[in-house]
Amino acid sequence: MTAPMVAVQDLAKTYRTGKVEVPALRGATFTAAPGELVAVRGRSGSGKTTLLNLIGGLDAPDGGTVHVDGRDVAALPEDELLALRRDVIGFVFQSHGLVPVLSAAENVEVPLRLTRTAPSERDERVRVLLGLVGLADHAEQRPYELSGGQRQRVAIARALANRPRLVLADEPTGQLDSETAAAIMPLLRAVVASEGVTVIVATHDQALLAQADRVLHLEDGKISEPASR
Ligand code: ADP
Ligand code: MG
Repeated sequence: MTAPMVAVQDLAKTYRTGKVEVPALRGATFTAAPGELVAVRGRSGSGKTTLLNLIGGLDAPDGGTVHVDGRDVAALPEDELLALRRDVIGFVFQSHGLVPVLSAAENVEVPLRLTRTAPSERDERVRVLLGLVGLADHAEQRPYELSGGQRQRVAIARALANRPRLVLADEPTGQLDSETAAAIMPLLRAVVASEGVTVIVATHDQALLAQADRVLHLEDGKISEPASR
C-alpha cells in the first residue's frame, strides 16, 4: 500500500467559550491516499471545518495526530508549518476569500509571490491556472466584477498556484446556487486530475458527493465510512 497523503488518527478538539465546552471532534480517524478525492459529509456543526483546519495546521488539536505527507502537523516548528501550508497544501474556503482590490490574475498570483518563482514564470502559471478554471478572459476583473461561481473558480485556481499535493476545500459551493454549485465539483475533479492532487472536500450538499472517490460521514465527532452508497 502506498503511504497516505493524509493520516488522521484519534483526532480530538473541544472548544471552550467561558464555561461552555463544545466537543467538535472526539476521536476522528481516516486516511486519504495520493490522488484521492475524499468528501466529508456531516450536518452543519458536525465539525467539518474544525477537521479541515486541523489537517491544514490552522488550529491545534487537543488529542490525536494529523500527518500530511508523513509529517506530524502539530509537531512541526513554525517555519516548517508555514512552508507546509505554502508549498504542500492549497485551501479553498467557503466564502472565496479573494482580495477585493486585486484582479483575478493578481489573486491567483498571491501564493506565488510567497515563493521564489520568477515573474515571467508566475505570469505563465497564472495564465495556465485561469485557463484551467475557464476564466482566461476574466484575468483583469476584480472579484466584485465576477459572479459567485467565477469567484469560487478564481479561489480554486489560487489554491492550486503553488502546485499543492493536497487541497482542502471547505464547502466550496456553500454560497452558490445549485446550478452554479453543480459546475464547481466537476471542475475541482478535472483540475485535480490534471495536477494529480489529493482533495478533501467538506460538504453537506448531496449533489456533490457523487463526484467523490470516497464519502466519509462525520457525526458525534467521529468518522465513519459507509461500505457502499
Ligand atoms: P461544521 O463545519 O461541520 O459546520 P464546525 O467545525 O464549524 O462544524 O463546528 C463544530 C462545532 O464546534 C460546532 O458546535 C461549533 O459551534 C463549534 N465551534 C466551531 N468553531 C468554534 C470556535 N472558534 N469557538 C467555539 N466553538 C466553535
Ligand atoms: Mg463549516
